[in-house]
Amino acid sequence: MITTVPDISLGLLHEGMFDKTGKVVTTSLTLIDIHDLARSSRTYEMTNFYVAHPADTLRKLAQTLHYHWEEGFGSKYNPNRTEALSRLKVVTSLDDIVADITTRTGQKPVLVATCAKDWPNRVTFANVRARMAQRDRPWLVLLGTGWGMSEPLIQRTDLFLEPILGPGDFNHLSVRAAGAIILDRLCRPE
Ligand code: SAM
Repeated sequence: MITTVPDISLGLLHEGMFDKTGKVVTTSLTLIDIHDLARSSRTYEMTNFYVAHPADTLRKLAQTLHYHWEEGFGSKYNPNRTEALSRLKVVTSLDDIVADITTRTGQKPVLVATCAKDWPNRVTFANVRARMAQRDRPWLVLLGTGWGMSEPLIQRTDLFLEPILGPGDFNHLSVRAAGAIILDRLCRPE
């Protein structure tokens, strides 16, 4: 497959997240996250935008949204929204995402974790961007929800991206805002 951009996908995860008490939970799915991150994914030419959730009912909700805009009334009402959601895939787990990319490309993707906390062992945006530019592997950038990814989930990944930091000490970006910033830093044209 000849591509003009690296093979990068974005994954929004809900399982294995911290809640505000520090407990590891599965967070609920938020439809605005799907809409917003789908637009960012399409803008930055993600191969796919995966939404993973273990609950059948919530996957069905996401698939209903997808259908509405892909084939239903929404597709006639607002074709831009249709295009934005054209790369959405709703799956059950991170394993499903990895399997889908591996089947499509014949290679396991490089998993990149993201997090606002200043935990150690991080790689810079510039470092990941340079590695992606080599275009020798598929990539999967992972976004969390709730109060962020738990350590066991982060330990499953290959690279742990540095946090987005502002000039001050307040750091509570939404996943939508953080996702857009991360994709811009990794994928904006030179
Ligand atoms: N306090 C949480 C954390 O430490 O990641 C923020 C959770 S935020 C609502 C959901 C997701 O957005 C995070 O799991 C991460 O993927 C992304 N995110 C939010 N703020 C970020 C930041 N400053 N740097 C990198 N990623 C961030």
